Amino acid sequence: MTKSPLTRDDLLAMDRDDALAPFRALFEVPDGVVYLDGNSLGALPRATAARVADVVKQEWGQGLIRSWNDAGWMDLPGRIAEKIGQVIGAAPGGMAVGDSTSVNLFKLLSAALELRPERRVILSERGNFPTDLYIAQGLAALLARGHELRLVEPHEVAGALDDSVAVLMLTHVNYHTGAMYDMAGLTQAAHDAGALVLWDLAHSAGAVPVDLAAAKADFAVGCGYKYLNGGPGAPAFLYVNPDLLDRARFPVTGWWGHAAPFAFEVGYRPASGIARATVGTAPMISIAALEVGVDIALQAPMAQVRAKSLAMTSVFAQLISERCQGFGLNIISPADPALRGSQVSVAHPDAYPIMQALVSRGVIGDFRAPDVLRFGMTPLYVGFAELWDAVEILRDVMQTGQWREARFNERRKVT
Ligand SMILES: *Cc1c(COP(=O)(O)O)cnc(C)c1O
Repeated sequence: MTKSPLTRDDLLAMDRDDALAPFRALFEVPDGVVYLDGNSLGALPRATAARVADVVKQEWGQGLIRSWNDAGWMDLPGRIAEKIGQVIGAAPGGMAVGDSTSVNLFKLLSAALELRPERRVILSERGNFPTDLYIAQGLAALLARGHELRLVEPHEVAGALDDSVAVLMLTHVNYHTGAMYDMAGLTQAAHDAGALVLWDLAHSAGAVPVDLAAAKADFAVGCGYKYLNGGPGAPAFLYVNPDLLDRARFPVTGWWGHAAPFAFEVGYRPASGIARATVGTAPMISIAALEVGVDIALQAPMAQVRAKSLAMTSVFAQLISERCQGFGLNIISPADPALRGSQVSVAHPDAYPIMQALVSRGVIGDFRAPDVLRFGMTPLYVGFAELWDAVEILRDVMQTGQWREARFNERRKVT
């Protein structure tokens, strides 16, 4: 790190040197808020409201059904899918957008298992995001062919790759700790063991460098509403290595995945390309909103995003160490930058009320059970001095014991 101890002036100097600072003006960030939850719901791009209004009022309101052809609605999902592909180094022709991350996991996991019919194990990490585990459990039960979800610790993954493993399913950056896997290395190890690999990029796309093609990844999924700033419940994306497409069969065989949707044939025939991994009518309003966020991500050089993200996570961790000593806060994100995504996770037994107190004072992160305060770093719209201010408020919440107030201790639905 730069120096120790840090001062607010140091951080103001980092803001002055920040090549990404102009991106902040492209987003709405409310006054008085330090937004450290863009890993859960990205901020609103200023251009989104006008784009969505145009789709609603003009394309839908005036164009009506004609807009499928005249406004290019039919081509929009494919176009934005390829744009997201540029953010994550996808091989051309392998990307589709639509459905949710959970549903896309189901579709791709099923395809992977069919490609390894003689194997029965889905290998994953115990600390993976729950929906990933639930989907695997549900699929194994549905198939009723003896498939098993085998869960290990992160350091045990490579050693657990044996000839029973059909697919290795991992989240590249862990939602809880922010720890990042070596995508290329583990993909290679899985392939050496004869297994396929499915990467969940929910906390990676737009946040850390990803090169799916170089890593020779087989499958990937991810969210549109986190670092891609596509809006709440934005359509998700999926990736299938184009080399596998001819053989890959997907379990939800809808008309958008048909070779000729408007031939209205009775029998299902899969489309030749990645369209076969899609299902039904894509949500145009949401996809239009997502495109605004993705276009911004494409303008920001990933090397700069990564450099600023690492500087932010380092500064934030350092400030907590320097200014919040003695409060029992324990940083659980990796200290080694190469192993770190774009968040700092801090464990404390009273993490829930502490986060509620922070939110009430404009420092918005989130809580992840059982005991983690999660602070996401979004280089496009958060600055360094804001990190100082956030840590000072955290220090005050701890010093005054403000978090003990009853109102911060009532559990709400979304944490
Ligand atoms: C956020 C997240 C999801 C969310 O899935 P949805 O279907 O969009 O609700 C899935 N997996 C991981 C790893 C996530 O972080």
